[in-house]
Amino acid sequence: MTQASTRASLSPVIGLEVHVQLETATKIFCGCSTDSEDAEPNTNTCPVCLGLPGSLPVLNEAAVEAAVKLGKAIEADIPERTRFHRKNYFYPDLPKGFQITQYDAPICAGGHLEVTHEGDRRDIGIERAHLEEDPGSLQHEGGHIDTAEYTLVDYNRAGVPLMEIVTEPDFRSPGEVRAFLSKLEEVLEYLGIYNSQRDGSLRIDANISLIEETEIEGEGPVDKTVLSDANRTEVKNISSHKGAETALAYEITRQRNAIERGREVTQETRHWDETRGITVSMREKEAEKEYRYFREADIPPLEVADWKAEIPIPELPDARRERFQSEYGLGEEAAAKLTSTKQVADFFEAVADRFDPDLAATWVADTLLGELNYRDMEITEVEDRFDEFDRLIELVAEDEITERNAREVVLRSMLDDGMGPDEVVEAEDLGKTDSDEIVDAVDTAIDENPEAVDDVLAGEDGAINFLVGQVMQATGGRADPGDVNQLLRERLPEE
Ligand SMILES: [Zn+2]
Repeated sequence: MTQASTRASLSPVIGLEVHVQLETATKIFCGCSTDSEDAEPNTNTCPVCLGLPGSLPVLNEAAVEAAVKLGKAIEADIPERTRFHRKNYFYPDLPKGFQITQYDAPICAGGHLEVTHEGDRRDIGIERAHLEEDPGSLQHEGGHIDTAEYTLVDYNRAGVPLMEIVTEPDFRSPGEVRAFLSKLEEVLEYLGIYNSQRDGSLRIDANISLIEETEIEGEGPVDKTVLSDANRTEVKNISSHKGAETALAYEITRQRNAIERGREVTQETRHWDETRGITVSMREKEAEKEYRYFREADIPPLEVADWKAEIPIPELPDARRERFQSEYGLGEEAAAKLTSTKQVADFFEAVADRFDPDLAATWVADTLLGELNYRDMEITEVEDRFDEFDRLIELVAEDEITERNAREVVLRSMLDDGMGPDEVVEAEDLGKTDSDEIVDAVDTAIDENPEAVDDVLAGEDGAINFLVGQVMQATGGRADPGDVNQLLRERLPEE
């Protein structure tokens, strides 16, 4: 083997710790509301989530059920018995001086999630997923933590249930990480345990190191050498899919430059500064032993063996996409659009059950989602109006209004002015004209436009569009252009 036939390159190895907020009505260890969007600071609190002496935590069943659902969806091992630990550290947002979390017996062990990135399907391993409570939140007045005049603390968030999902170091690119996060959110939303629109509902820490791969030309990678265990950095404070992709791309470049210049990449925690688009050294990473984990004696071990069997999960997005293709004969792209959220998929199925599936697919995937997208609206914002959209599709299916009026007048008025479909049809007088009126308008158009008629008879097909236009104008757009076209051809004089 000659020197020229081998090539060494640096490749990233990435693992994630993703914190997601579980959608439960109340906090994980007390009855306080988790909905603090419009609440004054420190109003959704009680002695338990404020960590007052003598208060005792009581585990919220809904949080456990949400965790079990996720475990089932990622095909994790859910043990018969799980327990909680205290993770001790001091920080102003943590009133008890410890966080209740899970340590050696997480509710989900193992598992995987399949992602598709740039046409490649890969399975990303999940090491574990566990339940824990969120700390409170800090507000630094007058700027950044280092420059703020003072800091306010709000315990409304303290005790909100979180699921921490730890992946295997299976990612090979920042793009793959982004694809994974989208997929994870999609699955969580399908399970009904997560709301991506909620502020701070997704927080990501990423571990990243570069390994040297030696490749023999034509034979692919044969040797992977971890340069040094000390070169791994942890990037914290990432809060979006795009942020994760950008932060990791930055960190790969930074580490690669250091290695290529012969400098050492130190093991450390770095903070992702979204505004500046860089990672900044934060502090030395704590060793696990510094947290002095010990068992949470106030919460007995939790038996989930029998309980988990009674917690069903819905059909997941991948399975639903495949079924939409086989059951309704949809293409891959339409199936993907129609399963983009569980609400869209449910709505499509309800419509497809009543009307022609092709019509349902066009109206939901193209027309409705297109108009919503144009207005930067989410399907969840119109979820309570599905009956009205259903009625609109019915008007089209039963040929009571033209498709064009349905799309351009009725749907737009529904979205822009909040009107109901029948209300728009009546207000705009959109009901299709009866056939006598159309026949009259066709005959008038023929009588009044002899030149266009001659052109049509001479074989100029374009001229018929002019006549169709005249009829549409005369009937106020209530006639169907296809019907008019046909009528014109039937009623034109013989040559
Ligand atoms: Zn509370």
